[in-house]
Amino acid sequence: MIPVKRAAVLLLTRKAETVTPGDGFLRSETMHIPVPSVVRLNRYVPIPRQVGSSPSRRGVFARDDWRCVYCNASAETIDHVVPRSRGGTHTWDNVVAACAPCNHRKSDKTLAELGWRLPRVPRPPSGWQLRGFRGQRRPDPAWEAWLPRHGKERARLS
Ligand SMILES: [Zn+2]
Repeated sequence: MIPVKRAAVLLLTRKAETVTPGDGFLRSETMHIPVPSVVRLNRYVPIPRQVGSSPSRRGVFARDDWRCVYCNASAETIDHVVPRSRGGTHTWDNVVAACAPCNHRKSDKTLAELGWRLPRVPRPPSGWQLRGFRGQRRPDPAWEAWLPRHGKERARLS
């Protein structure tokens, strides 16, 4: 998803074309163009994503559905799977949502030492999840056809 302003620049520089129109118009002193809802990039243009950034608390909770990955209770803490004291990093593949009791029991032990398992491999969230946990409104229904694919050739607007 990209901001409307950025989409407008892509449209004006002919790097993208409107696939699905949105509501309203973008105005400046010299221009008056319809707001697009979905644009298609005519060639690959890098779109900055937050996925590569280091995980935020909210991000981890949102990705793990606000549930403890170990016992499925409501999560209120962030656990480093490989404890930081043991060289674990603060990266998406090493942070999970955990409830306070599990986090306390886990302390600075590894999963192998405890005999615990992760229900799934922690991964960076998709752009779709990131959008959700920025607390924004529901996505425009016109995006639905486009959302399952990510990509290089399509840009979505926020
Ligand atoms: Zn737990």
